[in-house]
Order: sequence, then structure tokens, then C-alpha cells
Amino acid sequence: MTPNSGTVEGLERRCFAVFDGARETVPLADLAVALLERQKKTWPGLAGGYEALGEARLREIRGDGWGVKIQFNPRRIVSSGARVDPETIRRRPCFLCPDHLPPEQQAILYRDDYLVLCNPMPIFPGHLTIAHRRHLPQSLPENMITFLRFAVDFGPRMTLFYNGPSAGASAPDHLHFQAAPAGLMPVEKEILDPRKRTGARRRDGVEICRTAGLARGILVIEGREEGNVAAAVGELIGTLGRSTTSDGEPLLNILCTRTGEGWRLILFPRLKLRPDAYFREGEERLLISPGAVDMGGMIITSREKEFDALTPDLVREIFREVAFDDAAVDALLDLL
Ligand SMILES: [Zn+2]
Repeated sequence: MTPNSGTVEGLERRCFAVFDGARETVPLADLAVALLERQKKTWPGLAGGYEALGEARLREIRGDGWGVKIQFNPRRIVSSGARVDPETIRRRPCFLCPDHLPPEQQAILYRDDYLVLCNPMPIFPGHLTIAHRRHLPQSLPENMITFLRFAVDFGPRMTLFYNGPSAGASAPDHLHFQAAPAGLMPVEKEILDPRKRTGARRRDGVEICRTAGLARGILVIEGREEGNVAAAVGELIGTLGRSTTSDGEPLLNILCTRTGEGWRLILFPRLKLRPDAYFREGEERLLISPGAVDMGGMIITSREKEFDALTPDLVREIFREVAFDDAAVDALLDLL
């Protein structure tokens, strides 16, 4: 074990439960519910996060054939206002490394490699952060099979999500996923409408299509065979990388749910992390920093100003600026 993976004593102290996939193990989603109930009692910081979520305001915005929810959650300022440039990241102590977690924080040790943790600034009830024990870089292509297996182990009740290192990950230097109860992001229901899907192509039992008219370009990938699903997503990410100019992993957010015997992934190819208005001064500034959850249709605002200011036109404009549109996703599909 490297020093970064946390001392054995430290891990034992934190370990709420072990999930190793053995048949007698309690289902992972049930373990996570029990962890949350315990931590609300033993960790005041988490209780405060849930109190803030309970007081968070919510409103809906309906566009033409699409909808989003806006959540006003002042605690999220830490995330939406965070500096994620490489120099800042390099200098700060990594908050996902086991040795830097809050002393009260406990974990489910997952298959000896990951810590399933309660997110102390939840966007959803039951919001989890899943961090690798070691300080490894955030990368989906290298960890695709693990991502799919998390979806299997959590089962259809939960949605896994991933923010690329340059597309919303708050710790781009530490491999992590997140999870929340399935169905809370509007896009999860919208993409089930066959009228919103088009351009389907099928290969090796995996169907890839795009959505139409949801104000941002979205790919939906469905399949039942792990290796083929992982290969299809890997090919998409590779094609995306070649069609964009970013260094390293292309900008993307992805959601993943277990569906019966298979998986459904919802992929948002991105153009940039933050809209230009994010960097303006004073009144002009819009503190909106979209990650997977926002692209999924739950837009998080940490200030009342943005909560009040967003309109269908403004949301469409932000999506247009930070994400592919339908035509760009179509062009991407043609490259496959
Ligand atoms: Zn770390």
C-alpha cells in the first residue's frame, strides 16, 4: 500500500462496511443508505449539508420540448466557485485522499480499491462520492469497466455519474465517481421518449443514438454485454478526442444506470467547462459551472441572483456555449 492510500489503522477507523461482491454481502445501495443514516448522526458537517439541501429552493424551467430544474443551494458555492486550474490543484491538499478526509467521515470499502463516501454538500438525498483509495488521475477510458461494475453493484435504484478532469471534476487529479438515486435528473426521463431519439446505430449488440431537441447534444448508449458496452463508449471517447482540440481526455460528462441485464449511458460531449459569463465582473457575472448534474437537467445555483435570473433562453444559451449541439453530435456519430 502506498502512503497515499491511507494507513491501515486510518482505514480501519473509517471503515463502516466492506463490499467485496460476495453473495452474502448486503447490497451496495442498502449499505450506502445505512452509511448515510449513521453519518448524519456522527458527522455534524454532513448533517449541515443535509439541512442546507432541505432548505434548498427548486424551480422548473420549461423550454420547447425540454425542461430543467434549478436548485438554489448556497453551500455549493465551494464547488461552483472553485478554482480548478492545474497550479491551484497541484498546490492544495487533495480532499479525496484518505488521509485528508474529515475525521468523522466513514466509508464503505468497495472491492478493496474504492471508498464509497457521503458527499457532505449533497445535491440529492443520498448523494455519494466514490473515490479511489489512491491518488490516481481522473480518467474514464482507463476505468470504464469499473464504472460499469459500480452500476451493476448499485443496481437500477442508483445513477452513477462522472465528470471529466476538465469538465466539472472538482478533484481532476483524484479518480472519483459520484452516485445518486436514479431518476432525479430530468434528462433521465426525457431520453426514454422515443420521439426524442434519432440516428440509432447498432454494433456488437450496443445501440448508440443521439437525442433531438433537448437544447444540448446528447448520446445514449445501451447494451447488455460489458466488454462491448465498454468498447463502444471507449470508441466514442476516442473519436471525440480526435474531433476536439483539448489535451488529454476530451471534455465530457456521463451518467450510467443499470437497466435489467444491461446498461444505459447518457453522454454529454462538452466544448468548455464554464460559459463566458462566469468570468465577467460584478453584475455581469453568472456563477454557473455545469457538470454532469447540470447537463442532466438539474442546474445548481449557489447564489440567489442566478437562481432568479435563469430563463429558458439563458439556459439554452449556456448549453449552446458549453456543450455540443445536435448537429455536432450527429457529425460525431458519422465518424464512428
Ligand atoms: Zn487525492
